[in-house]
Amino acid sequence: MRYYSTRNRSERATLKEAVLRGLAPDGGLYMPHSFPVLSPDFIGSLQSRSFQENTLTVATAFFGEDLDEQVLRQMVESTITFDAPLVPLSENLYALELFHGPTAAFKDFGARFMSRMLGHFAESESRLITILAATSGDTGSAVANGFLGVPGTRVVVLYPSGKVSDIQEKQFTTLGENIIALEVEGSFDDCQRMVKEAFQHRELNGRMVLTSANSINLARLLPQTFYYFHALAQLPAGSRPMVSVPSGNFGNLTAGLIARKMGLPIGHFVAATNVNDIVPRYLQTGAYLPRASAATISNAMDVGDPSNFARMQDLFQSSPDDMKSLITGCTFSDDETKAAMLQVYQRHGYVMDPHGAVGYLGALGHANAGHPIIFLETAHPAKFKETVEQILKVEVPVPNTLQHFLRRKKQTIRLKPDFGALYETLVSESLAH
Ligand SMILES: *Cc1c(COP(=O)(O)O)cnc(C)c1O
Repeated sequence: MRYYSTRNRSERATLKEAVLRGLAPDGGLYMPHSFPVLSPDFIGSLQSRSFQENTLTVATAFFGEDLDEQVLRQMVESTITFDAPLVPLSENLYALELFHGPTAAFKDFGARFMSRMLGHFAESESRLITILAATSGDTGSAVANGFLGVPGTRVVVLYPSGKVSDIQEKQFTTLGENIIALEVEGSFDDCQRMVKEAFQHRELNGRMVLTSANSINLARLLPQTFYYFHALAQLPAGSRPMVSVPSGNFGNLTAGLIARKMGLPIGHFVAATNVNDIVPRYLQTGAYLPRASAATISNAMDVGDPSNFARMQDLFQSSPDDMKSLITGCTFSDDETKAAMLQVYQRHGYVMDPHGAVGYLGALGHANAGHPIIFLETAHPAKFKETVEQILKVEVPVPNTLQHFLRRKKQTIRLKPDFGALYETLVSESLAH
């Protein structure tokens, strides 16, 4: 399979090039030249196979030309080691729980698969691969845990000091080995700017292989199609659900659109956001107007210029109206989100995290008699323990996978919020494993 850039359709990058570069050299995002379509037989019999088996078929459709069967099987089997159960809340309303992985957020799927793929490419690369990630919380933990101990790679995570939750911070600052946590004395925007500068720095990129682990990277995006297939595998054959996706950078929703292009019968999508409503506004008005993000209780979705919007536009290039007829946008305030969390707890005894709650609200507004509605529950509520406990007035137990991080000791390097400081750290001999 070859990959083009959303800014240049004639580009033909290989899988390895696209994955190692992250962003295309012209600043565009990589897209596959064609979308493999799976057979109606396969789609009609998803229920009869395991999550791993279905995933192997989907992964082979994308990567089968470029990776050996054995290698791909190994990647799938070591990524999909936990379930993504579809939990019914009421008739025809389901939560797809994507938080049963090691860092308790859906980003585990993409980050784990990407780490195995990069680990594979590292075997034929003499130089160390440096994965650079700016995080406001969840990306850093999923990526660091995915890459922990993968030979030939090191992860450098930049995060704003004092601005991520305790449990999030512990998940990427206590690991050691090939994981380096840089505690930046600034904001998330500072971290993101420093990372961008690093990718644009010629001399630095000549000196080392630098790649991005944000959802601009194909190796993180495409594996997010896997759980959409698994969701359908848990409904009766012939179902045509609507899916509500709580969104920030829109990688998750883009993966759903891709799964549908591959033949998965999803009837409609809801793009649910917090007050950072750039995409819902676009769907309503046709104007894409990025702006500075506002802070909310669903902080992993506080994005003012969603990176995967370029891919969404690309998918509907021939007809923006098709995008509007397939995706409905909606936006919710923190107060509405809190009220939904309380209501669902009181009615169904189900504890949602603030991100999943935005997805729930999106689903609620679009109930369509006869069709199942799924909202994606993207994080375990214990990841946002204080917020959830304050709203529900109940204790939220912390799962074992998260508890063991809390007992460990944080190790970070403090940095001034400027690129020079990041540069010095990246080239420092003592940090090259
Ligand atoms: C990252 C994240 C999101 C947003 O996902 P996108 O793919 O960026 O739209 C939603 N919920 C949680 C818990 C996240 O960590």
